[in-house]
Amino acid sequence: MIHGLSRSRHWEYDHHVVPPISSSATFRLDSVERGAQGFIDFAHDSGDHHDLIYIYDRLDEPTRGMLEENLASAEGGAVALCFASGMAAISGVIHCLLQSGDHLVTHHVLYGCTYSLFTNWLPRHGIRVNFENLTDMAALRRSITPQTRVVYFETPVNPDMTLIDIESVRNVVDECNEARQANERIHVVVDNTFATPHCQRPIEYGADIVCHSLTKGIGGFGTDIGGVVIGPQEIRNQLLLYRKDFGGILSPKAAWATLVYGLPSLATRMVNYQKTAHHVARFLANHPKVEKVLYPGLSSFPQFDLAKKQMRDSKGRFAPGSMLYFVLKGADPDGRHGREFVNYVAQNAYSICLAVSLGQIKTLIECPFSMTHSALPPDEMAKHGVVPGGIRLSCGLEDWEDIVADLKAALDAV
Ligand SMILES: *Cc1c(COP(=O)(O)O)cnc(C)c1O
Repeated sequence: MIHGLSRSRHWEYDHHVVPPISSSATFRLDSVERGAQGFIDFAHDSGDHHDLIYIYDRLDEPTRGMLEENLASAEGGAVALCFASGMAAISGVIHCLLQSGDHLVTHHVLYGCTYSLFTNWLPRHGIRVNFENLTDMAALRRSITPQTRVVYFETPVNPDMTLIDIESVRNVVDECNEARQANERIHVVVDNTFATPHCQRPIEYGADIVCHSLTKGIGGFGTDIGGVVIGPQEIRNQLLLYRKDFGGILSPKAAWATLVYGLPSLATRMVNYQKTAHHVARFLANHPKVEKVLYPGLSSFPQFDLAKKQMRDSKGRFAPGSMLYFVLKGADPDGRHGREFVNYVAQNAYSICLAVSLGQIKTLIECPFSMTHSALPPDEMAKHGVVPGGIRLSCGLEDWEDIVADLKAALDAV
């Protein structure tokens, strides 16, 4: 991830240590014939026989192309396509895999905007969605119908850190696919934003397709919004066509920042985030005012064995990530106590910032119930552990002792 692929079809940069940035909406063509060939090649695999012909940024573009090669390689997928945001990537892959009459199965807790996409927009296109407990393979099996085409989930789940066993989901889906024609097969799609490819590569465990918000851990610095879909060669042409026509491309300037700063620094950031997350999780777990802490790296984590199985870096070392979810002690039905704590942090902390988003060099804290996940029905959230006073913390690169001191001061104050 630091050096990227040394050779790219996208640009001759053997003599650049840092890949060049492209910023050209349109491309000069030597002849009408070359232009015509470019349109023939676009979203057809025929383009592999000669040099790439660039026509227009919305179709294809070299800096984004280089980032896509490196993202595909980081996740162990054949191809990657970048989008304007994580939501553009998720809606792209969903619309390419599903059409009217089809059915999607997903986990009952999801990032708020993904939930909103699934409940506000997919039904308009005649796509039915079932929300299930995907930690329960019997429930998954029961929810699959002849119309099911996609099983979609996050692991760890945003925000409550539940893990879903990718390999077990794959096995259930394989059983169902056995009797199906190729065009009726169910695809397993995993949103790997929380873990990043440093901590978990879902394709190794049987996911067909991985998507990410590049805005988070991969982008890392919080300067640009972006998204990516990574998967097998077969999805490339349709996703390219979708992206061209719906128009949600990642700009080359945002692609360059991710290519040059975000992805190459991912491993070193993640190793340090993780070290901090361990210290913070242990501090919270031992604090008398804390009811529970969910961090996959704690041996008390309810799915610790699953965490140790599927959250691994590329060298096989345990990599439980940078995200924590915790709840304070005491009855807090409307979340006032949790909000007081976070407000104290927002106004007094030295190293923690109240903000949505995650995976940045700055430690970020928020209340999912009333903020990032407010699109989910409150009763459903509370039933599944996303309580009004629940707190999500994304560890950054500050000294862990400073972060713990901030949390301690806020716990003393409330
Ligand atoms: C933030 C986020 C998204 C959406 O990404 P954007 O880049 O904000 O559009 C999707 N999934 C998860 C898990 C996220 O945290």
